[in-house]
Amino acid sequence: MSTLQELVRPELRGQTPYGAPQLDVAVAVNTNESSYPVPQVVVDQIARDVAEVAASLNRYPDREFTRLRTLLAGYLVRTTGEPVTPEQVWAANGSNEVLQHIVQAFGGAGRTALGFTPSYSMHPLISERNGTTWVDGLRDADSGRFDLDGDLAVEQVRRHDPELIFVCSPNNPTGTSLDLDVVLRVYDASDRAVVVVDEAYTEFSRAGTQSAVSLLPGRDRLVVSRTMSKAFAFAGARLGYLAAAAEFTDLLRLVRLPYHLSTVTQAVACAALEHTDTMLAMVEQIKVTRDELVAGCAALGLQPVPSDANFVLVGGFDDAAATWQALLDRGVLVRDVGIPHHLRISAGTPEENDAVLRALKEIA
Ligand SMILES: *Cc1c(COP(=O)(O)O)cnc(C)c1O
Repeated sequence: MSTLQELVRPELRGQTPYGAPQLDVAVAVNTNESSYPVPQVVVDQIARDVAEVAASLNRYPDREFTRLRTLLAGYLVRTTGEPVTPEQVWAANGSNEVLQHIVQAFGGAGRTALGFTPSYSMHPLISERNGTTWVDGLRDADSGRFDLDGDLAVEQVRRHDPELIFVCSPNNPTGTSLDLDVVLRVYDASDRAVVVVDEAYTEFSRAGTQSAVSLLPGRDRLVVSRTMSKAFAFAGARLGYLAAAAEFTDLLRLVRLPYHLSTVTQAVACAALEHTDTMLAMVEQIKVTRDELVAGCAALGLQPVPSDANFVLVGGFDDAAATWQALLDRGVLVRDVGIPHHLRISAGTPEENDAVLRALKEIA
């Protein structure tokens, strides 16, 4: 008799599931959620719209989520000034599922995906879980810095000739944005790689940062993925999306499960998008708090990496794991992303920010 460990796919044996600890603490600043609840006007709208569709849950949802795509395209047009059409937009249950659709359609057995470490850990995980060989590229020859070096990126693209390339801007966990020039060079370094720009945190970028959405016209292999989890304070709703060539999104229909976006998910996401300004009202406040976190950490003699996201990667800890535990002992949960001497801290409310800085000061 075989054990289940022997029966499971060989590449899954001994693996552990992805997951940041979900602990009950006073200050949870470990998963880059928004600390601000969904505003009451949006809560009311969601309640009304969900009540309205509840009776129709006997039917399958709109498979093509037409209204949601239209609203997402409208949001992209409004915020980037680019002519994005609903046909260019795809959505799924969180951008993790969006990324999985891309890998299922364009990666797979015998194919290779390249990313530049340290970056979002789900890029290799989703690639490998779907049979794609992952290549851990380097960001910078001088590993003390976290910017993606254009020359080095191009050289690695040519050397590995991958079918898929992931870049993340602003990058998780470093918080740094990528010059569009580097994205362009990466794209042009291959004539076959699908290039995914993960812009989960783009709304938190400092002034002057441009979205890769502006590069989409004429580039069929370019994809920009986004999420409502971070800037929209909507992590629990599970709604991620992407913009790409219409032909690209059309191909993703081959791998999505039928009716993957429930009627409830579509209604909830549309309600939030109708209140975009209200949903995004906290972004500016969070950017202020983020900058205060950078300044506060610097004042404590730590080395925060300047950030375009809603979190800060902080260096300068002798023993990051010990500091992580000492913070937790003080009710502050941050993220140990496995970079020596560094911890990643989300920008919460001003009160949470103060609590983080107080705890850091106590430990130092
Ligand atoms: C949080 C995050 C996501 C979003 O995940 P969802 O599935 O949309 O909640 C995607 N990419 C990066 C880099 C992230 O940090």
